[in-house]
Amino acid sequence: MTLHVVGAGIAGLVAALALARAGHAVTLHEAAPVAGGRCRALPDGTDNGTHALMGANHAALRFLDAIGARDGWVEPEPDGLPLFDVADGSARRIAAAPLAWRDPARRPPGLTLGGVVALAGMAAGITDRPVAEVMAKHPALLRGFVEPLTVAALNTPVAEASSARLGQVLRRLRGAGAARLLVEREGLGPGLVAPALAALRDAGATVRFGARLRALTTAEGRAVALHLAEETLTLDAADAVILAVPPWEAARLITGLRVPERHAPILNLHFDHPGAGPVRFLGVLGGLVQWVLVRPTGVSVTVSAADAEADDAVETLAPRAWTEITAAVRAFGLPGVWPDVTPACRAVKERRATPRHGVGVPPVAPRQPLRNLALAGDWTWAGLPATIEAAALSGEAAAQVMGRRRAG
Ligand SMILES: Cc1cc2nc3c(=O)[nH]c(=O)nc-3n(C[C@H](O)[C@H](O)[C@H](O)COP(=O)(O)OP(=O)(O)OC[C@H]3O[C@@H](n4cnc5c(N)ncnc54)[C@H](O)[C@@H]3O)c2cc1C
Repeated sequence: MTLHVVGAGIAGLVAALALARAGHAVTLHEAAPVAGGRCRALPDGTDNGTHALMGANHAALRFLDAIGARDGWVEPEPDGLPLFDVADGSARRIAAAPLAWRDPARRPPGLTLGGVVALAGMAAGITDRPVAEVMAKHPALLRGFVEPLTVAALNTPVAEASSARLGQVLRRLRGAGAARLLVEREGLGPGLVAPALAALRDAGATVRFGARLRALTTAEGRAVALHLAEETLTLDAADAVILAVPPWEAARLITGLRVPERHAPILNLHFDHPGAGPVRFLGVLGGLVQWVLVRPTGVSVTVSAADAEADDAVETLAPRAWTEITAAVRAFGLPGVWPDVTPACRAVKERRATPRHGVGVPPVAPRQPLRNLALAGDWTWAGLPATIEAAALSGEAAAQVMGRRRAG
């Protein structure tokens, strides 16, 4: 019996490792020449884009523990997230965890009792409206806390983003340590992808790159053949498949599957400017830049829900972003030299970074659309927006379903 996992993004890696460690024969087929999917290292060693985890992301952290990579993920801002406001040059720290707001120094701007009630209403998830509409009476809190959180977690502008989906995130920020923000010290290559592949090898799994699943033959509710880039594999009665590919690929491979169809881009700018001190993570309000990651390997900027910027040239974006970055790092007194001249910059535009999380019930894919095939992927986990955590949870769930199935 072979378990074929298709797609070596987080969901596929999690599923493949769980099954291989449980003693199954596992082959992981990946179309690209590298693993990691939307969470990967580029050939020059930079990340496709900054990836942050929260303490509440238990499945993601379980996976990091499982591959021995947990220690590389550090908490750059234990005293609260530094936020620089381009509009007035102000710099403050805020806590993402509501419990920490008892300390006035770490409260989001504009926090009032009414604002807390509005946040609690979204966390309760009773209604589903655009986030901007729910927060309309609390514009300062929206701008200084809810909007950055929504855009980062849902990759969707607040005028469109679903308050119920944001509620899924807010509910998870309540526990002790849940709002701790973690980033990889050196990058996704050494800090995630390489250790995951090493763990798979040690567990006896086979990983094949350049192995795109072109088509899937089904008969009587089962997958019976995988048509891969260079070969066709006929599945026997005991074989099973986990399809851990993005929604557009799943829809192409399985007729009639309902999948999210609208996606949002994330723009990433990578500056060739090594940070001098420890890893830092700064937020910027009211500018182009949303988050700045400063590491010894360089400075990276994230612009989520980047509909307006996705087509702009790097020559336009880089100097704009660098002006904001230098203002923010000076406001927070980061060490090192921060020249006014923009360093070399590379833009990575992930056009289908995640599905858009608008108001309304998203299409929910069945976990097991065929008797010997389970779906995994961030978009298949209805309980969270499309994130590493959703991908990891879906990979665990798919491995459980396929690991315990009987032949047939
Ligand atoms: C720039 C950026 C920043 C992000 N930041 C964060 C963040 O800070 N925190 C967070 O939690 N999430 C973040 N995300 C989201 C996160 O990256 C994704 O939710 C997660 O990586 C999705 O994993 P996945 O395994 O579901 O899908 P994918 O990563 O898309 O993996 C699918 C894999 O399947 C392969 N594949 C596709 N078709 C085929 C085929 N036909 N045959 C074989 N293989 C195939 C692909 O090449 C890919 O490797 C970010 C995403 C981007 C793009």
